[in-house]
Amino acid sequence: MSEVVNVAEIFGKNVFNETVMKERLPKSVFKKLKRTIEDGTELDPSIADVVAHAMKDWAIERGATHYTHWFQPLTGTTAEKHDSFISAPDAEGKVIMEFSGKELIKGEPDASSFPSGGLRATFEARGYTAWDCTSPAFLREDAAGVTLCIPTAFCSYKGEALDQKTPLLRSMQAIDTQALRILKLFGNTTSKRVVPSVGPEQEYFIVDRAKYLQRKDLIYAGRTLFGAMPPKGQELEDHYFGAIRERIGSYMNEVNQELWKLGVTAKTQHNEVAPAQHELAPIYDQANLAVDHNQIVMETLKKVAGRHGLTCLLHEKPFAGVNGSGKHNNWSLTTNDGINMLNPGDTPHENIQFLLVLGCIMKAIDTHADLLREAASDVGNDHRLGANEAPPAIISIFVGEQLEDVINQLCDTGAATHSKSGGKLSTGVATLPDLDKDATDRNRTSPFAFTGNKFEFRMVGSSDSIAPANVVLNTIVAEAFKEAADELEKAEDFDMAVHDMIKKLLSDHQRIIFNGNGYSDEWIAEAEKRGLPNIRSMVDAIPSLVTDKAVKLYETFGVFTKAELESRVEVEYEAYAKAINIEARTMIDMAGKQIIPAVIRYTGTLADSINKVRSACPDADVSVQTELLTETSDLLSEMKTALSDLQSITEESLAVSDACACARAYHDKVVPAMAALRAPADKLEMIVDKELWPFPSYGDLIFEV
Ligand code: ADP
Ligand code: MG
Repeated sequence: MSEVVNVAEIFGKNVFNETVMKERLPKSVFKKLKRTIEDGTELDPSIADVVAHAMKDWAIERGATHYTHWFQPLTGTTAEKHDSFISAPDAEGKVIMEFSGKELIKGEPDASSFPSGGLRATFEARGYTAWDCTSPAFLREDAAGVTLCIPTAFCSYKGEALDQKTPLLRSMQAIDTQALRILKLFGNTTSKRVVPSVGPEQEYFIVDRAKYLQRKDLIYAGRTLFGAMPPKGQELEDHYFGAIRERIGSYMNEVNQELWKLGVTAKTQHNEVAPAQHELAPIYDQANLAVDHNQIVMETLKKVAGRHGLTCLLHEKPFAGVNGSGKHNNWSLTTNDGINMLNPGDTPHENIQFLLVLGCIMKAIDTHADLLREAASDVGNDHRLGANEAPPAIISIFVGEQLEDVINQLCDTGAATHSKSGGKLSTGVATLPDLDKDATDRNRTSPFAFTGNKFEFRMVGSSDSIAPANVVLNTIVAEAFKEAADELEKAEDFDMAVHDMIKKLLSDHQRIIFNGNGYSDEWIAEAEKRGLPNIRSMVDAIPSLVTDKAVKLYETFGVFTKAELESRVEVEYEAYAKAINIEARTMIDMAGKQIIPAVIRYTGTLADSINKVRSACPDADVSVQTELLTETSDLLSEMKTALSDLQSITEESLAVSDACACARAYHDKVVPAMAALRAPADKLEMIVDKELWPFPSYGDLIFEV
């Protein structure tokens, strides 16, 4: 048994949070900092030295030797450069521990090696990290010792965003301003801020580290590039919510403790649908914290796995044939005084403010479905979206029975008179209480589902940052709010105007509502009839970032400049091409150096055995061996041809200099060539002697953790 943990005692122990700040900062400094954090006002630079000093003392008392500006460049993960606190030795050779306000507020990593998509030439290497004081500093304890991590935004010399955080913070300002206007229209004068709250559910796979290390594809690409299905997959669905095995349990236990220490509210954990797949969800938080915490969750899942002889795979599709992993981004809007703007109450048909908010969200999603789809694009997610496990690549909204009914009433008759209620759920067992039923069932096939008082955006990939999805949600809803407020603030008869507006919003954008089965072929056809975009791949999704519509949206709210959008397009095309290039080269390596030699060895043993049997017994039937030898040799030569093709196609694609054309070449030519190489290899895996197969099989990986 592991030792008893007092969660309340360890929670937030490594965070420079409000309690610590209150304890350690002079009252006036604490007040100023708190105002910045809570009201979003500018940080007073004069207090920086005092805060830095307190932060340093606190960190050093806990064993910290280094600090780092922790940021989120466009690589999808986080970056950090560690500086120790020591000063230059004095005349007596003594060092002191130093950390100034300047070092806290601003860092200057050499930015030239981070993706900037042409925003910054390599000779203009300056990039700055700026302290995001709304996300608290924390201490990371690991083999490198204790490090003070300061969450920062990362910008170029000219102030252009080079990271995920900066546009996110900008989009939070936009939604704050516009949402307050809506609230004011309904007579709310007390709420001072509106903050998007986000709760991301994180899926992941766990495999045995020793086996992982035998697979070059897992090491280089994070997913298997070869692999035949084992006799059992996920068809029994016996893994979903199944009892958690001891080895995994002890891993999850340590993950939770590490997260709690860092103030991450790890809340639920369970086994997912696929064998070896699991999920972790925290309690929701304000968007920028949720984004930071999700990065910490991903880092922690990976780091702690190593300590248990395990490896955590965050890739969206580590194994063909079983479910991949995603992230459900739960999103809503909450005021500083605790009002959830997405709460319909018991009688939504009477809740005019909610209906306006709902109408605005429908308009936002309908107008900018392409942007939301783009935000969920990453290389690995191409394997999920549109396949029968994750939401389809078509964006639609699930509102459930109750709201759909209210919308229909409003659209059909102009007035909504009642709301369906959930009623009671009777279990038919006398000793069990009747339960209150939710007014609406769930829909696991919808990409954007209303779940009572929040929307759940279910398309994000498991390895991806959730920042882009939230940037899109915040900004497009800010736009819809702005357009509504512009009109309603001028209206002479507000009640009438808002009633007409709700009806118009709901009917104009009713096409985005779909409550049926999003996995069905009928939906694809129906969506096409409705004119909803069906964007099938990342490469197809990227151009939506720079349409006139997108540029206007983002420039209006100061979230991205056109140049920043163009840079992101460039970065994404490059990221795509690079990732597929690595996959292709890994396949070439594995096929040429491992699989083909193994198959040749196997054909050799077959040929030897045929000869041996023949010489021992000339009349013996060797048809089975001969047939196997023929089949194996045929597949082998199919593989060799596919390997040569993949080699030349990859080389040609790599030579394409334009980023878009290069990514297209990888998508249109290299990906199919990879599939052509995989097919015969997977068949061979089913034939060749297991002893000779050069790496662990799917069965070894996902059933024997
Ligand atoms: P469900 O079972 O509907 O998915 P859960 O209670 O399991 O709902 O919550 C899933 C995630 O949604 C959790 O991370 C949770 O904290 C988050 N969540 C709950 N309420 C909100 C909200 N108002 N805004 C954002 N996220 C929320
Ligand atoms: Mg959920």
